[in-house]
Amino acid sequence: MNRVLIIGAGGVGNVVAHKCAQLPYIFGDIWLASRTLSKCEQIKAHVRRNVGRTIKTAQVDADNVPETVALIKRIQPALLINVALPYQDLHLMEACLQTGVHYLDTANYEPPDTAKFEYKWQWAYHTRFKQRGIMALLGCGFDPGVTNIFTAYAQKHHFDRIDTLDIVDCNAGTHGHPFATNFNPEINIREITQRGKFFENGKWHYTPPLSLHYRFKFPAGIGEHDIYLLYHEELESLVKHFKTLKRARFWMSFSQNYLTHLRVLQNVGLTRIDPVDFQGHKIVPIQFLKALLPDPASLAKNYTGKTCIGCIIRGVKNGKPRHYFVYNICDHAACYREVNAQAISYTTGVPAMIGAKLILEGTWRSSGVFNTEQFDPDPFMRDLNLYGLPWQETFPKKGFDGFLIKKKTT
Ligand code: NDP
Repeated sequence: MNRVLIIGAGGVGNVVAHKCAQLPYIFGDIWLASRTLSKCEQIKAHVRRNVGRTIKTAQVDADNVPETVALIKRIQPALLINVALPYQDLHLMEACLQTGVHYLDTANYEPPDTAKFEYKWQWAYHTRFKQRGIMALLGCGFDPGVTNIFTAYAQKHHFDRIDTLDIVDCNAGTHGHPFATNFNPEINIREITQRGKFFENGKWHYTPPLSLHYRFKFPAGIGEHDIYLLYHEELESLVKHFKTLKRARFWMSFSQNYLTHLRVLQNVGLTRIDPVDFQGHKIVPIQFLKALLPDPASLAKNYTGKTCIGCIIRGVKNGKPRHYFVYNICDHAACYREVNAQAISYTTGVPAMIGAKLILEGTWRSSGVFNTEQFDPDPFMRDLNLYGLPWQETFPKKGFDGFLIKKKTT
């Protein structure tokens, strides 16, 4: 029996628990542990109602390595799925090393006191994981995760050489709140307010936060949206693993309403990550802001509309230039009907389940620390179609520029 331990009972943890429960022949025994036990119990009740299976729950502080090691020794899972926060990554990897358990996460480590995410801290564990004979699969959500696999699939089946990559991520949904984030507000706002960064001609280039933007026409009825250049963690591993890339960029859609709220919050200091004195206490403004904002999981009930995330790739096949667009469309309301989640949690949780499935089956198995593009993309692409995230591909005449409505930069 394959026993799995999921850490983190947020929006993504809820989806992972549901999707694992749907596959009893792979995930024979499911444990969900998090800082707040009542959230695990709530998810357990939803899984029992929606899927008809009973998962087990536990309380754990994932920053406390001995406590996690004790939990792992008690449960004896084959794999730990980390869908807590990036701050816990290194502590959970350490606990897996001490107990000989495979590890998977969806977001790379960033230190709590510096809004800077890089793979270097987790890649540094490669030799220790290899020597222990276990694997860590990093960034197995949608972006990072599926976007890396889309790129690997394109390289394997459609290109002799990949020249450029543009990852586009659009949430065209409406949740009815004046301002909310679709996953953990602290992590989300830290990511968006960083400088933009993209790779071109062998170097990283930087832009002021949210300064480079275009109007982009998305497929499948999603329509026109403003997209903004962001730095996203998969760019780092993709540039490392696809050596022919001359340019790699990441774009995300934001509404003017969202950006106006964000600007005001920044201007009044509520997105600060350093502690400030408040009535004799130290508080971190962005953590206080998180307490005020809607819990991303709570958005699901009234969310309507769709998301589109995909990769636009330019390169060469058989000596001829080629453009390729591969993407998924996900419907918020359909996710709610299936697993009580909105599409951002769903598009993260389903790939985490698929990655876990491939590891447990032995389809993706090695020793060391890996990113998703380092394995054969075909089984993962097949499972996306089977387990809720079907993808589509087109070969447009023009690449990224062919989808632009009006070119405007500031
Ligand atoms: P949430 O904030 O909803 O959930 C995080 C959960 O982790 C909460 O239940 C929280 O507990 C728990 N947690 C936090 N710290 C600890 C700790 N020290 N010990 C145990 N549990 C802890 O976040 P989301 O579900 O929205 O996101 C989960 C992860 O998914 C994040 O890392 C995010 O960056 C990643 N993500 C990845 C994406 C991708 O495509 N690759 C896209 C979206 C998200 P408590 O309830 O007590 O606060």
